[in-house]
Amino acid sequence: MVKIALLGASGSIGTSTLAVLREQSTQFSLVLASAHSDHAKLLKIAAEFDIPCLAFTGITDPTTQAEIRAQAPQRRIVFGEDALIGALAETDYDTGLNAISGSAGLRASFAIAERGKRLALANKESLVMAGHLLLPLIKAKGAELLPVDSEHSAIFQAIGAHPRSEIRKLHITASGGAFRDLPLEDFASITVEQALRHPNWDMGAKVTLDSATMFNKALEVMEAHWLFGLPYERIEAVIHPQSVIHSLVEFVDGSLLAQMSVPDMKLPILYALSYPHRLPSELVQTDLTALPALSFSPIDKERYPLYYLGLEVAQAGGILPTVLNSANEAALRLFQERKIGFTQIHGVCAEAVAGFTNEAEPSLESIIHANSEVYRRIIRSY
Ligand code: NDP
Ligand code: MG
Repeated sequence: MVKIALLGASGSIGTSTLAVLREQSTQFSLVLASAHSDHAKLLKIAAEFDIPCLAFTGITDPTTQAEIRAQAPQRRIVFGEDALIGALAETDYDTGLNAISGSAGLRASFAIAERGKRLALANKESLVMAGHLLLPLIKAKGAELLPVDSEHSAIFQAIGAHPRSEIRKLHITASGGAFRDLPLEDFASITVEQALRHPNWDMGAKVTLDSATMFNKALEVMEAHWLFGLPYERIEAVIHPQSVIHSLVEFVDGSLLAQMSVPDMKLPILYALSYPHRLPSELVQTDLTALPALSFSPIDKERYPLYYLGLEVAQAGGILPTVLNSANEAALRLFQERKIGFTQIHGVCAEAVAGFTNEAEPSLESIIHANSEVYRRIIRSY
């Protein structure tokens, strides 16, 4: 029985992971689960999966904490980010699946790597912000890194045992998000509700908004750079509105290998947990004859300026990816609070990056500091 620690259990990836664990109950058991503040949901999950240890990172009120503990006295329940990191350092688990959203997931990835465990990573921000520190730590501790993001799982599966020297290019597919067909003149009046409606995937709010701006794809290019050790010149993204081909590897002989299925995160999650094996599963079924025609198109610069800003920042490296990611998190909050419009998200991000002096090879402390400073400064100024 493989013991799983699931971080972000109450979210979208968390929910898909639970569906996988429900089906594969003879293979995996849950020993630790976290949420930020959704205690009703996590307590329900804990009862179903009989999870011995729970962590809530965002509940600080002592009365609420006592009430939660009273509802599940047989379980160990801890509160705060430090307590989650402590639980990851002490609990006996084999695989930590990090599905916390945004930069808040950074420390958990390091805690899992520090233990030398398998890190099944949905939280792409960990690599974007600190790939240069996380990868050496994983190597030093004998840990393992498995992608959960569907595009990276596809590339991982297609690469197989081929050395980097046999790969010409990675092609990351992108749905194009909610506004791929919206006339450009309508962008100024985009509402929060419209931006939260993804055409193909049912995901958390942050990654759905990042799909609408395609900042998500810039994050994924950076994620691929770290996961597969290829320079940015050899990683490209392409719009593929059907989300059936999850990404492709182009080899030096010109051959392209793709991984396909109907869009469903349960597939990459199962693979990250079961690798190097494939487990029989009925969860995702693809009927080839029912699929729409597949198409591909380049990414328009006017429609998706944040994607291109992300590529520039990726090339610059250092602490700028952290600065941009943090500025984007702040801008999304301002957009959701209706303090800025959709088209201003790019401007807020560009201004934050332009005003920051880059630092090569930043330490984890420096990254965490810049992340919270940039965020705070932007929120304060609106
Ligand atoms: P959701 O917003 O649906 O869920 C986020 C989870 O993280 C929830 O459990 C939430 O708890 C918890 N959380 C929120 N804020 C914090 C915080 N400050 N500290 C600790 N935990 C927190 O996100 P998704 O599941 O959509 O995404 C999770 C990660 O996976 C992201 O990095 C995303 O980019 C990546 N990903 C998601 C995909 C998807 O299909 N959803 C696809 C590929 C990657 P609570 O519910 O209590 O707020
Ligand atoms: Mg993805």
